[in-house]
Amino acid sequence: MNQNLTADRQTFVTHLECSITGERYEADQLHGLSRAGRPLLVRYDLDAVRSAVSRDTIEARPTDLWRWRELLPVRHTSNIVSLGEIETPLVPLTKSGGPNVLVKDEGRLPTGSFKARGLVMAVAMAKELGVTKIAMPTNGNAGAALAAYATRCGIETIVFCPDDTPEINVREIAMQGARVWRVNGLIDDCGAIVGKGAAEGRWFDFSTLKEPYRIEGKKTMGLELAAQFGWKLPDAIFYPTGGGTGLIGMWKAFDELEKLGWIGSERPKMFAVQASGCAPIVRAFEAGEEHAERWEDASTVAAGIRVPKAVGDFLILRAVRESGGQALAVGDPAILKAVDAAAKQDGLLLCPEGGATLAAYHQALNTGLVDEDDKVVLFNCATGLKYPMPEAPQALDRTRPIDFDAL
Ligand SMILES: *Cc1c(COP(=O)(O)O)cnc(C)c1O
Repeated sequence: MNQNLTADRQTFVTHLECSITGERYEADQLHGLSRAGRPLLVRYDLDAVRSAVSRDTIEARPTDLWRWRELLPVRHTSNIVSLGEIETPLVPLTKSGGPNVLVKDEGRLPTGSFKARGLVMAVAMAKELGVTKIAMPTNGNAGAALAAYATRCGIETIVFCPDDTPEINVREIAMQGARVWRVNGLIDDCGAIVGKGAAEGRWFDFSTLKEPYRIEGKKTMGLELAAQFGWKLPDAIFYPTGGGTGLIGMWKAFDELEKLGWIGSERPKMFAVQASGCAPIVRAFEAGEEHAERWEDASTVAAGIRVPKAVGDFLILRAVRESGGQALAVGDPAILKAVDAAAKQDGLLLCPEGGATLAAYHQALNTGLVDEDDKVVLFNCATGLKYPMPEAPQALDRTRPIDFDAL
């Protein structure tokens, strides 16, 4: 049994807070969005955390997600359904990236994507708060992670995905015990169905940022980066942005770490990477807007970031602006070229969304937003093995003479 999960423990959550009005909400109660219709953020007694643990205590623990337990919301360890949430490695991408480019390879997590971080936390909290039935709209990976964790602890799940969601995602969701429906629309159309059922009291709505705890799970990416970089942070982070949970979560993590005195005030430039065929955050960033309009006719090979409208848009835009970063759009050809380059030159199979961050890095390099000396982290959010690959049709007839020179 994982040492980080053995003892039942205390948590340091004081309350939740509306991300737009600051209105306070009680901890230990089931919440969706705030009354203003915006995400709720979990707040902790960080002075008490500082007295209870030090950086050294954390570093002495096994390196998984649960080593950060004092900064996480689950009250009782018994509510955690773990599938082995490891710390993901930083893999150098020397040839297709550059001398200072590292990929945080989230494809190693349970269910093969970083959605596991958010969903392991959200499901534990749902269990703690007595939820028995959950519905979710998904572009694939979130549904798979939900299905795995919820099934494991006996929570019923109904998942809705666009009908052109990668086939493997739809099947893994079904295989892991959820009822999955292909819908002739985009993720926000699926979200509308989930919302309607939730309003009728049929299930609890697990849409991105519509429950407060996925951000806390995704926050661990920022905590891990701080520890992996020796309690400093990289110069720039490229994050493929759909709902933006991870970007918002990391930004929150850095803030909490600074308040604990574990890192200084320096921050990485945050680059929110989107696909040119669905770039609402980029458009809002460039127009200087605080919120992003829905992107019509969204289309891209990078299904995970095909999110026409994000409820946390203003949180993404604020973090990117405060960090001195930018929102960048890359086209599908550049995405596919980047996936190919990382695989062929560095032996690392990225998902298309991960490829988008590599393409965006080169764009940022060419336009002087970063330079070659900057220490850069790209996020590969899912294993490349889930996505279609070009055919490899060569066959050899062993009963005939073999032309070894031609092999
Ligand atoms: C969900 C997902 C994203 C987007 O993550 P957000 O934190 O929701 O912005 C990117 N890539 C993949 C593979 C995903 O599954």
